[in-house]
Amino acid sequence: MATSDPDTVPSAAESRAEPESALATARRQLERAAATLDIDPNVVERLKHPQRVQRVSLPLERDDGRVEVYTGYRAQHDSVRGPFKGGLRYHPDVSEEECIGLAMWMTWKCAVMDLPFGGAKGGIVVDPKDLSTEEKERLTRRFAQELRDVIGPMRDIPAPDMGTDAETMGWFMDAYSMQEGETIAGVVTGKPPVIGGSLGREEAPGRSVAIVAREAVDFYGMDLADTTVAVQGFGSVGANAARALDEWGATVVALSDVNGAIYDPDGLDTNDVMGHEERPGMVSGYDAPETLSNEDLVELDVDVLIPAAVGNVITEANASEIRANMVVEGANGPTTFAADDVLNRRGIPVIPDILANAGGVTVSYFEWLQDVNHRAWSLERVNEELETAMLDAWNDVRTAYEADEDLSWRDATYVVGLQRIVDAHTARGLWP
Ligand code: GLU
Repeated sequence: MATSDPDTVPSAAESRAEPESALATARRQLERAAATLDIDPNVVERLKHPQRVQRVSLPLERDDGRVEVYTGYRAQHDSVRGPFKGGLRYHPDVSEEECIGLAMWMTWKCAVMDLPFGGAKGGIVVDPKDLSTEEKERLTRRFAQELRDVIGPMRDIPAPDMGTDAETMGWFMDAYSMQEGETIAGVVTGKPPVIGGSLGREEAPGRSVAIVAREAVDFYGMDLADTTVAVQGFGSVGANAARALDEWGATVVALSDVNGAIYDPDGLDTNDVMGHEERPGMVSGYDAPETLSNEDLVELDVDVLIPAAVGNVITEANASEIRANMVVEGANGPTTFAADDVLNRRGIPVIPDILANAGGVTVSYFEWLQDVNHRAWSLERVNEELETAMLDAWNDVRTAYEADEDLSWRDATYVVGLQRIVDAHTARGLWP
């Protein structure tokens, strides 16, 4: 159950009515991981709270002359390992609590990848589909101005998330730079390459999902050529994950968009289906042998299920119906805390979001390095370094997983990230 007080973590009994908030889930995951590690409870207590949450009012002049005021947030969770880092989400469900929970996940994600960043997340409570391009641009520029005091390339570096993209980041960077009086490309990542964006950034989260799925398939003794895959969501993450796995020999049998799913047991041509970025809503309209609902897709009997759409799609209500041999999380938070327990008990491995989709923030780090050094990398270099970073993180997590048979993949991933954060807090100490 979502709670209106972000400081209150509901007990398991209280939260029977799912889905719970990202913050409640994130806190319970933290407590669970902390219990398996011998760490200072004082540090765990600190990590349950964000360092700062900025709430801003954003007046926007609509194209018809009316002024509407939107609410924006930037939650900065922890910066012990470096500047805050995380996306900006434009979505009607954005809330302070959701931003804090997602910011916590960014802290763990950056630590799992051993990036010199902490975690943040922000957003505007708005449905971007209701805005014209010009309105979106004005709203984004105002947002950049309102956040100006708390962001910056050495402070907090936003990036795209749900409802935002490279174009949004371009406006954001321009607004910030105009106010600062100089071009500061490193204030956001995920920009168009022509203004300091990195090649391969757009594909990176989906690519990392595919790399991690490939390694997990290998870990369980399967061959990618004999592996069937179902992908929920065909946006940037889903489309790039599906296409990479298809290219590497897996059989992608199901894909979906918000309107429904398509299914072909012999495998779909993932390059022939248009992604959400290319043309929204084209998946469910594709001429496939069978159509299914999104709910049916999640319950398909496949080797690998990749939920890559929105949060809370595997819940206590359907976790016992999942027939996939493994779940690789493409979206942030697709599995609720209770559903995770059910899947663990049923022996279905869940490779968590903070490892699987971490390629996005990893290439964001590469972009930030390119910006502060004023030197662009080739696509080959980006993809090679991404592959190395993902394999290093996968090996760290696999080692933790193999060292303790009681740990799930999510626990093992948290153990790796949390240990690094706790070590940094211990080394820095508490001031004053
Ligand atoms: N929004 C992305 C995520 O959830 C990327 C964040 C970033 O690149 O800073 O990981």
